[in-house]
Amino acid sequence: MIPMAFDYEVAESVDHAIDLLGQHGEDSKLLAGGHSLIPIMRLRLAAPTVLIDLGRLEELRYVRDGGDHLAIGAMTRHRDLLFNDLVKEHCGIVGWTAGLLGDPSVQHRGTLGGTLSHGDSSGDMPSVITALEGELTIKGPQGERTVEAADFFQDYMMTDLGEQEVVTEIRVPKLAPGTGWSYKKFSRRSQDWATVGVAAVVERSNGSIGSARIALTSMGATPIRAAAVEQALSGASPDAVAEASQSADEGTNPSSDDAASAEFRRHLARVFTQRAVEEALGR
Ligand SMILES: Cc1cc2nc3c(=O)[nH]c(=O)nc-3n(C[C@H](O)[C@H](O)[C@H](O)COP(=O)(O)OP(=O)(O)OC[C@H]3O[C@@H](n4cnc5c(N)ncnc54)[C@H](O)[C@@H]3O)c2cc1C
Repeated sequence: MIPMAFDYEVAESVDHAIDLLGQHGEDSKLLAGGHSLIPIMRLRLAAPTVLIDLGRLEELRYVRDGGDHLAIGAMTRHRDLLFNDLVKEHCGIVGWTAGLLGDPSVQHRGTLGGTLSHGDSSGDMPSVITALEGELTIKGPQGERTVEAADFFQDYMMTDLGEQEVVTEIRVPKLAPGTGWSYKKFSRRSQDWATVGVAAVVERSNGSIGSARIALTSMGATPIRAAAVEQALSGASPDAVAEASQSADEGTNPSSDDAASAEFRRHLARVFTQRAVEEALGR
């Protein structure tokens, strides 16, 4: 289908984008890579009257070493993350997952800020940034603020973003040496969205598991931490992973749709949690 007619503005800076959002009000939308927004406009599930294009904001396209964390500009494309040396060295799960998003054309256009702001719980990056306990920097008319990923995702496609706010940066902690990670994704067709995905970040401590942070994709309205598994694995032997993973679907609320029933999603969450944690442990 063809989208409803809309006007088009080019943002020359973040402040300009914020001004334009203020001028055009609630019917305007920011456009980043367009790989989620344009498809839903074509389905007429969204009909913004004005698109404000962030595409020329090279100032928001970077990966920087922030000391104990990596700072990633919101307009950094998935493809940039896939090949970035800092990401490979300090937070490989981000680059690895960027390589699993759709196909190369999606990766060349889509942005990290866009996929998080879209707030789709079947997106892969929301779970990864949640498992990393990352945070987002958001700028609006009142200035800048920071919000943890866990508080950013509020409901299905609903985030903490105000009407006149722009995500400018995403911060992820550098993983300590010896920290293992994995993102496992099950989809029915290659390059498809996750029927279920599991992001795991696991720290080892003297042969035991020090801590495990696990976030699930497509298991509810937001990315969901597998809290019961995390608790069971804290200080546990790596041999406890299989049993602990049986609680992966506790506290989730998966839906049934064409891709899978809710029950099958629960099963996938248990199986893929075990696989992801074991891979993170190098087993
Ligand atoms: C064929 C196809 C397959 C795909 N497969 C996958 C997949 O397997 N896994 C997956 O996770 N994703 C997948 N995607 C989605 C892809 O990752 C998108 O790039 C991403 O979801 C949105 O990023 P974007 O930069 O394109 O944002 P846009 O589509 O431009 O914007 C999305 C939303 O975020 C808002 N927004 C964008 N940037 C900002 C910002 N800086 N501040 C505030 N609001 C902002 C927009 O207003 C809009 O509401 C797929 C897309 C396609 C078309």
